[in-house]
Amino acid sequence: ARHLSCGQHIRHDGRTHETGPKRPRRIRRSKALFKTILVPIDMYAESIPAQQLTVAKRFAEADSGKIIVLYVMPAIPGYAQSALPSGTHESVLSEAKKKLEEIVQTAGLTGSAELVLLEGKPARAILDYAEETEADLIIMASHDPNITDYLLGSTAARVVHHAHCSTFIIRKLKD
Ligand code: ADP
Repeated sequence: ARHLSCGQHIRHDGRTHETGPKRPRRIRRSKALFKTILVPIDMYAESIPAQQLTVAKRFAEADSGKIIVLYVMPAIPGYAQSALPSGTHESVLSEAKKKLEEIVQTAGLTGSAELVLLEGKPARAILDYAEETEADLIIMASHDPNITDYLLGSTAARVVHHAHCSTFIIRKLKD
């Protein structure tokens, strides 16, 4: 082997390089990919919100991201509203709020996730809210496993097709 004095080393390819004073190493931080994570959950279907929140937590931990848990309450049509006893809307709303809080608490996310309750058409509301909050990732379940065998439910399909950010779809495996 060729011996080179004064701090030079020979590499496999025969080129040499100086071993001068070491330059401070640049610490490369990986760029955060998902800073705002939107988790729309269908609280009243068995659409595995717990799994969605577990996945969201992992993503948020990896990127110090913010989690927003969203439930869209389908709006009651005007004609039906007038037939309902007064106060029904308020009690449905507060019931939904309570349930949302419970789900987030069970997932161990109280205090670290933002809770949002909207009224409207689920897919449209999810897409609009994702734009509004500049969400980088939407985490949904593929469908309610008890209802359909389709790969994607209608809400999930619409969001996947029209979202301007990444979407992550959880598919429940058959037990
Ligand atoms: P299915 O019709 O089988 O219930 P969906 O497409 O409605 O399938 O549901 C799949 C996913 O869509 C849910 O896991 C949830 O992420 C989202 N989703 C559906 N409905 C709502 C809703 N009302 N509010 C928030 N997210 C919803």
